[in-house]
Amino acid sequence: MVQGIYEDIAGTLRSHGLQVTSQRILIYDYLIHTREHPSAQQVFEDVFESLPGISKATVYNTLEVLSNHGLIQKININSGVTRYDGDTSVHSHLICTHCHRIIDYFDDSFLGLRVPENLWNGFEVKRTCVIFYGVCDSCREELAAQAKEKRKARKDCVVPFKRDLKQVDAWLTVKTKG
Ligand SMILES: [Zn+2]
Ligand SMILES: [Zn+2]
Repeated sequence: MVQGIYEDIAGTLRSHGLQVTSQRILIYDYLIHTREHPSAQQVFEDVFESLPGISKATVYNTLEVLSNHGLIQKININSGVTRYDGDTSVHSHLICTHCHRIIDYFDDSFLGLRVPENLWNGFEVKRTCVIFYGVCDSCREELAAQAKEKRKARKDCVVPFKRDLKQVDAWLTVKTKG
C-alpha cells in the first residue's frame, strides 16, 4: 500500500525533526526506490510529473536537507556532478568513467577494512565507502567498436609509401659531387 510508504516516510522525517511536506515525501520516496543514483537535475526531471510546478531550487534544497540528516547519501564522482543515493546502508560503488553509471556493490569484506591507526593520528573512522572506477559492460562494447572503426578508417586513408630508390640515388650523387 502506497499510503503505508508515505506513513513510514513521514515518520522518518518527523524522527529527524523535519517538517513533513509532500515534496520531501515524494523526493525521498523516489530516491529510496531508484537504483540510478541520480543527479539533482535527474531528480528534478523524474519527480516533475508527480510534483507539477516544483522548482529546481526546491529539489536542490530538499536533497540538501535529506543528506544533511543522513537520510540519503551524496556521491561525488569525477565528472564533478553530485549524485544521490537513497540507500544509506554500507555498500560500495562501481562507477563507469565513460557513461557515469553507478552500480551498487554489496560486499561485507569491506566492512573490515582498516587503516593503520598511527597514520590517522587518532582519526576515528565512522564510515567506509569503497569506489571502483572503471568502464561498464555496455561502454566497453561501445568503446571496442569505436576503436575498431578508428583502426579501419586509418587503414582506409593511409597512402602507401612508395619512392623510387634510383631517383634518390641519382639525387644523392649530384649532391655529393656538387
Ligand atoms: Zn558505462
Ligand atoms: Zn548506491
